Amino acid sequence: MYWEKEIETMDRSRLEQMQLARLSETLERAKRSVYYRKRFAELGLDPGRIRTLADVANLPLTNKDDLREQWPYGFLTVSRDEIVRMHSSSGTTGRATVIYHTANDLAAWTNLLARCMYMAGMRRSDVFQNMMTYGLFTGGLGFHYGAEKLGALVIPAGSGNSKRQIQLMQDFETTVVHIIPSYALHLSTVFAEIGVDPRRDTKLRIAFLGAEPHSEKMRQKIEELYGFRAFNSYGLSEMNGPGVAFECAEQKGMHIWEDNYIVEIIDPVTLKPVPDGEEGELVMTTLLREGMPILRYRTKDLTRIIPGPCPCGRTHRRIERIKGRTDDMMILKGVNIFPIQIEKKLMEIPGVGTNFVIVLDRAGFNDQMTVKVEVKKDFFGGDLKQLEALRRQIVEELKSDILITPRVDLLEPDSLPKSEGKAQRVIDNRED
Ligand code: AMP
Ligand code: ZN
Repeated sequence: MYWEKEIETMDRSRLEQMQLARLSETLERAKRSVYYRKRFAELGLDPGRIRTLADVANLPLTNKDDLREQWPYGFLTVSRDEIVRMHSSSGTTGRATVIYHTANDLAAWTNLLARCMYMAGMRRSDVFQNMMTYGLFTGGLGFHYGAEKLGALVIPAGSGNSKRQIQLMQDFETTVVHIIPSYALHLSTVFAEIGVDPRRDTKLRIAFLGAEPHSEKMRQKIEELYGFRAFNSYGLSEMNGPGVAFECAEQKGMHIWEDNYIVEIIDPVTLKPVPDGEEGELVMTTLLREGMPILRYRTKDLTRIIPGPCPCGRTHRRIERIKGRTDDMMILKGVNIFPIQIEKKLMEIPGVGTNFVIVLDRAGFNDQMTVKVEVKKDFFGGDLKQLEALRRQIVEELKSDILITPRVDLLEPDSLPKSEGKAQRVIDNRED
């Protein structure tokens, strides 16, 4: 049931002792980087004086701009000879951030992924098809090595080429897949197109859904379409990549591995910690990374700690599925809206198909939101009255949640651009 029982179920006081010991080693290492040496000096901070975990709050926060300014090597704490791999974030704006790993860093990351997959029920006997981009993006190689360490048969399929993906699944009797949720929805339409039923004609039993926010409704829809159990997988390249937090068999929140990270939730405005259970921005400190330790990294991801123990017996705390990023929040007529709120509502409506996009425009002083929604095939063939009723239903459902009235355009299946990587849900035309 456990990959590493002792660590996964360690009692909290021992776990915290371990964190404190690893934190002081991390701070010693961090001093060797150009960036933290300078930062500690500016703040007059002596990391040797950190005595308790609560003192973490006195350490400086690190954000993406700090990583960018030190590009390419300012965060390194070892000589370049020790580094064996780099990855970078998939961010679409500005210069990508680069993360370096020593051989030990890669071993620790690989182990975390094996731990996650084992927790969700994957075993050596499984055939694992990794449908993520191999390359600088961490979802490819990260999962790949984790699954090999677990001992499964790994198919390094990479992303895209849907028909070939389905062929691989059938030929090699794939049982476990790693897939981006928006792509899983799209792939289900390709299954339908070629007349293969993923529930009946494949051996799929587990999926890991990661890399982008998705609602509980979306998970359920994907589980229904494929007949497997889907587990939420969270990570970010700055903290290695996937393997940071993962759902156990209970599927109620993701265990975040506290032997590898110190976890804080802060108020993104005041930057003060919020109590367990309250929503805020996730902030993390690496505890085992040698080549590039990062202190109190502001992930921009919004979540909360789920209070109380998990029935699975693991003592590492759980975070709730990510609600969105602080920088994804749309402000319309003074109302704060996250794309996931729209997604959640859409997934509840039976006639809605597998893709949608939110377009923001400005007419004079007025902001307008248009939600373009693909409709299921059988609906589109139907009569106009039925379509209009669906359109109205979507407008009403969305309005009840986001409190403003969006325009809704219904589109034919497959008419919106598809993405093989993270879906782009919002097109903001308001910037002038
Ligand atoms: P990258 O470093 O390019 O892999 O992107 C990491 C970001 O992807 C995270 O900070 C999250 O915003 C997002 N992300 C990754 N996994 C998930 C997930 N399971 N749920 C929601 N967002 C996710
Ligand atoms: Zn659990």
